[in-house]
Amino acid sequence: MDNFLHSLLTTATVSGFETAGSQVFADYVRPYVDAISTDELGNTIARIDGNQPGKRILIEAHIDEIGFQVLYVDDNGCVWLRKNGGIDVQCMPGSRVLIYAHTGIIPGIIGKQPIHFNTPGAAESVPTMQDLWVDTGMEADEVRQLIHTGDIVVTDATPTLLGQRITSRALDDKIGVYIVSQVLRRLSADRDSLHGTVYGAAATQEEVGCRGIQVCANTIQPDVSISLDVDFATDMPNCQKNKYGDISLGKGVIVSCNLDSSPALVRAVEQIASREEIAIQLSARPSATGGTDAARLRTIGNGIQTLLLGIPCRYMHTPVEMCDMRDVDAAIRLIVGLCLGF
Ligand SMILES: [Zn+2]
Repeated sequence: MDNFLHSLLTTATVSGFETAGSQVFADYVRPYVDAISTDELGNTIARIDGNQPGKRILIEAHIDEIGFQVLYVDDNGCVWLRKNGGIDVQCMPGSRVLIYAHTGIIPGIIGKQPIHFNTPGAAESVPTMQDLWVDTGMEADEVRQLIHTGDIVVTDATPTLLGQRITSRALDDKIGVYIVSQVLRRLSADRDSLHGTVYGAAATQEEVGCRGIQVCANTIQPDVSISLDVDFATDMPNCQKNKYGDISLGKGVIVSCNLDSSPALVRAVEQIASREEIAIQLSARPSATGGTDAARLRTIGNGIQTLLLGIPCRYMHTPVEMCDMRDVDAAIRLIVGLCLGF
């Protein structure tokens, strides 16, 4: 696996606490860009100046991941959590977690009572956050000494390649940040053909309400924005295609044609895809608008020309999200083609 991608995926960036991951992004893109800046919300913005005048183009993905913060440590040393973002609580019992304490990373597990203790109906009930506690294996006084309210917690999920596919926690949306980085790397070698200025951003706090991108947009005031996020693959058992559409892993980058993409940009990428033989999948998405940074960007300022691209993802918001690296490659080629065409 690409070292940089592995590093992005294994660096904890729970929403609101993205600094370490933003540093990984900044260190990688620094040799390829003309400037890098950060802001109060932790957004990292890398800039490439084209050699021709033109538009202000923002390419962005969110670097924050869903996770937890420590809510409280009880008298038995059990650590109780509060969610940052849409964690799938049903997947959590039986998980290994990492607590980022001020003294270092402390491993733990989310336990549950044995199945043998189930009361009638228990097997059908879905757990809530109040059913999840972290057991660190340490005595209560030691836990209280080392772990503090507010410490961030993530699931301990090792990124793994499965053929052409990758599984990990936080592919949402580190895979998007990876794509932004690769696009910057390729554009840096093509400044003579590049019109305008490209801003590549690792935006923060998307999972808690698209807060980072709002500040990013105010700073950059882009004419055009391209948002990269994971999007729903429906090629898995029991998935309702008549409700969520027909999207598969490995069949290309998703081009959203709901209200969060400018129709002119959808047409432009369709032409590039057909000319350069890049696989794309059109998606109307499950809702007309919302749920990504692109939706926020669409209504900022005087109206930004937005495009929402998605990497098909199975098992979203679980510790075993899955994407296909062929779709990642398609996205990189498509965005480079689009940027060089402005
Ligand atoms: Zn996302």
